[in-house]
Amino acid sequence: MSEKRVVVIGAGPGALTASMLLASRGLRVDVFEAKPVVGGRNAPLRLGDFTFELGPTFLMMRFYLEEVFGLSGRRVEDYLDIRSLDPLYRLVFADGRELRVTSDHDAMKRQLEALVPGTGPAYQRWLDYERIKFDHVTPCLKVPYSSLRAFATRRFVRALPYLDAHKSLFTHLGNYFENEQLRICFTFQAKYLGMSPWSCPGTFSLVPYIEHAAGIHHPMGGLHRISQAMAKVIEEHGGRIHLSSPVRRLLVENGRTTGVELEDGSREKADAVVLGSDFGYGLTHLIPESALRRWTPRRLGRKKLSCSTFMLYLGLDKLYADLPHHNIVFAEDYKRNVEEIADKLVLSDDPSFYMQNASVTDPGLAPPGMSTLYVLVPVPNNRSGIDWDAQKAPFTKKVLGLLESRGGLAGLRSHIVESKVLTPLDWERDMHVYRGATFNLAHNIGQMLYFRPHNRFDDIDGLYLVGGGTHPGSGLPTIFESGRISANLILERFGMERLEGESGAER
Ligand SMILES: Cc1cc2nc3c(=O)[nH]c(=O)nc-3n(C[C@H](O)[C@H](O)[C@H](O)COP(=O)(O)OP(=O)(O)OC[C@H]3O[C@@H](n4cnc5c(N)ncnc54)[C@H](O)[C@@H]3O)c2cc1C
Repeated sequence: MSEKRVVVIGAGPGALTASMLLASRGLRVDVFEAKPVVGGRNAPLRLGDFTFELGPTFLMMRFYLEEVFGLSGRRVEDYLDIRSLDPLYRLVFADGRELRVTSDHDAMKRQLEALVPGTGPAYQRWLDYERIKFDHVTPCLKVPYSSLRAFATRRFVRALPYLDAHKSLFTHLGNYFENEQLRICFTFQAKYLGMSPWSCPGTFSLVPYIEHAAGIHHPMGGLHRISQAMAKVIEEHGGRIHLSSPVRRLLVENGRTTGVELEDGSREKADAVVLGSDFGYGLTHLIPESALRRWTPRRLGRKKLSCSTFMLYLGLDKLYADLPHHNIVFAEDYKRNVEEIADKLVLSDDPSFYMQNASVTDPGLAPPGMSTLYVLVPVPNNRSGIDWDAQKAPFTKKVLGLLESRGGLAGLRSHIVESKVLTPLDWERDMHVYRGATFNLAHNIGQMLYFRPHNRFDDIDGLYLVGGGTHPGSGLPTIFESGRISANLILERFGMERLEGESGAER
């Protein structure tokens, strides 16, 4: 084992990816996690005999996961039983029309034609364009953007015509579909980044494309099994995970980090530190302000943040067997709902919502004949000033009513045996998420690539960022990639051979 020691703050998916890769290279890795479980927002939530995801429910681009496991000398299938979902999800529109989106392209074309005649060929044109875009753009996400030089690479120049960053996602899809409902089918995914389709850069049409081209997956037992599997690999490679061990602050001497101080006052020395907590929280609570030059709390205060999420976790004494795994119900006035979340920062009277009915795929999450229902309502982040202590009960009642009237869950309230509500205030107070912005900094063009906090943190030598707040961004595949990029930068720092793959080099 190497002499070099890396201390990792937090055990979210970004931190675990970096730790797994570094431990597999023989570095001494110690992960300090504040909570008694690993996973962060990707941890399990248990209510009685029911198991829920706390956060992520969609696994896309499973090949990213396979790659980081492979680079750690492991095969994902030895740890996780991952199933493909079909349909990908059910979309419910204001007029009651429904679409069961599938990655079977012929079946999808037939559905689109039934909804709006003549749109099958447009769908094929969209798929063809996005495939080329995917091949050009995704390699650009695999490298760090520590300097503007990264924009001058052949790779980036080749990708430029496909970035579509000068137009919104909604406008970009207008090249293919005139019908507003259809455009919504291919743009609502902006919400995965906590953004509005009307302001999210067109670059992100890659997200719906990846769904249609590569599918959506579910690891049996839940997505949180991914973090648990990574923790296992870390320990197999000799890394150590210290649960219930909150870090109080980063230790910095002459612009360089020397390790961390834990809440119990003990100090852990390190040759490099990985910050895996929410970036905004880390910047405002863990890094001494005197050490900050470029990224100050004041600067962060001016940045655009993602939305937040109001969560309802329900254990039911029945299974709604006709509803698929993922369901999205759009507000009657979707555009207004999105503006209220992202711009006006007020609670919508008419919210859109997402429901995960995971027990149809994964019966082990609930006792026999019963089911788990996970409900996510996008709402403004805590810059809104919404008094969630006062709003929690009436908003819960409203959402329950909508689940019954528009979600297809007739009689739901009489079947609830366990329940828990989580508000944006809880995300901020209990989960240490800056301003409750559950998807971190927004992904507008001014906050992406070089303009997002760098994986090698500029202000403090020896500090590396991972997770949704750094490059490439929020969402599990990109978060795994942030772990790989930062692991490569650390290996380079120690003069060790980089991991295979594109990341690390700014060529
Ligand atoms: C509701 C919700 C739904 C989402 N859905 C999806 C989805 O379907 N698909 C998808 O790909 N992505 C989704 N995401 C986005 C993203 O994948 C997750 O948020 C992901 O868990 C973020 O990972 P992370 O590495 O940034 O760290 P986090 O998960 O934020 O973990 C950070 C960890 O740091 C710990 N920590 C904080 N402070 C300290 C301290 N002082 N000392 C020690 N430890 C500390 C925390 O306890 C936590 O464990 C979703 C997010 C949310 C919130």
